[in-house]
Amino acid sequence: MPEETFVIVGASLAGAKAAETLREEGFEGRVLLIGEEIERPYERPPLSKGFLLGDKPREDAHVHEGDWYERNRIDLRLGVSVTALDRDAHQVRLSTGERVGYDKVLLATGASPRHLDVPGSKLQGIHYLRTMADSAALREALSHGGRRVVVAGGGWIGLETAAAARTYSNDVTLIEPEPTPLHASVGPEVGGLFADLHRKHGVDLRFDQGVAGFWGAGQVSAVVTSGGQEIPADVVVVGIGARPNAELAQEAGLEVSDGVLVDQSLRTSDPDVYAAGDVANAFNPALGKRIRVEHWANALNGGPAAARAMLGRDVTYDRLPYFFSDQYELGMELSGVSSPGEYDEVVFRGDVDALEFIAFWVSGGRVVGGMNANIWDVTGDIQALIRSGATVDRGRLADPKVPLADLA
Ligand SMILES: Cc1cc2nc3c(=O)[nH]c(=O)nc-3n(C[C@H](O)[C@H](O)[C@H](O)COP(=O)(O)OP(=O)(O)OC[C@H]3O[C@@H](n4cnc5c(N)ncnc54)[C@H](O)[C@@H]3O)c2cc1C
Repeated sequence: MPEETFVIVGASLAGAKAAETLREEGFEGRVLLIGEEIERPYERPPLSKGFLLGDKPREDAHVHEGDWYERNRIDLRLGVSVTALDRDAHQVRLSTGERVGYDKVLLATGASPRHLDVPGSKLQGIHYLRTMADSAALREALSHGGRRVVVAGGGWIGLETAAAARTYSNDVTLIEPEPTPLHASVGPEVGGLFADLHRKHGVDLRFDQGVAGFWGAGQVSAVVTSGGQEIPADVVVVGIGARPNAELAQEAGLEVSDGVLVDQSLRTSDPDVYAAGDVANAFNPALGKRIRVEHWANALNGGPAAARAMLGRDVTYDRLPYFFSDQYELGMELSGVSSPGEYDEVVFRGDVDALEFIAFWVSGGRVVGGMNANIWDVTGDIQALIRSGATVDRGRLADPKVPLADLA
């Protein structure tokens, strides 16, 4: 009998944690972890924070020690991409020309930055940020200071990059089509606080306009906005969101709609194919809907959940979305849902001006999302409150004297 083989496509956080779980759960068969990057699996949050700022060495970002893969008999293939998933033959095709048979396969192919397709978008000096190599190149461009940096996009990556660029003493202008940063993630109430924070740190914020094009002869020299403004630039960073790497699944005839559709055990419509991390659009029973989550914790926990499901364990992946960010003096954690359309109002508790507060997103009298800013060890209570579905009194929610645990 040939050895049972599990193939994991995508050697990043979700994939590496899935491989770890397969061994922890006693899987003795062959595990192939295949990744098209040449770096061994690493976590991406430092790429816009400590690694970009030069505070953290690259080794700190790696998911496992270099020899861990061999010690655990994980066949790690780096610099190799999976070019096709042949479900009929139960094989994956590799860029090396090999075909590898599988019993179960996990798609952990993540997401890629959305690219701007406007005049001048191929000029030198325009950066995107997804990989360690991207971050190293951006650090080189920012770390000398004194440069004119334009950040296109006021999402998490744009804001964290703007903070890093200011920390290196560059002039920073940020362009965002919405009226506040993070609009799609947290809405205008909390987005406005992030705008204040960046303004206080000297970022020139230009809202209600996007990028129409770039000027330059070889090297970018200016950004032209849709509002007709021309902003001089030596360095441009584009952070306008990511799209799921779902082509393999799509070409293999699996259901794809903003990511690979999976059930609450992270299984696709094919019982031998699973998806986890940024690429998965999973039914979440805690929220009662499908959701695709592009956050570190979802890769960290989703990879292992998919691995257990591949081993036939009974898995219900129902974690609430959880995200963290650090910008200047602000550290925050965000749980649950907080996008416009998902809440009626935002209730604050604590000192917003001093950036020590909790924001609650409330829908129909129930807390659906919560952000703790520079207040720690409360995420468990906030998530319990969201999960409880309890109707909350607005006054008690806003009152720091009422323990969070009493609200659930
Ligand atoms: C700069 C940056 C900062 C971030 N900061 C935060 C943060 O502060 N907090 C937070 O919660 N989240 C953060 N995130 C998000 C978080 O890093 C992602 O959610 C996480 O990396 C998703 O992990 P993943 O394993 O699903 O996918 P990815 O990390 O995208 O990895 C997928 C891997 O699969 C490979 N791959 C794709 N297709 C193939 C193929 N056909 N064959 C072989 N390999 C393939 C890719 O090359 C990639 O290496 C950040 C992301 C970035 C880019």
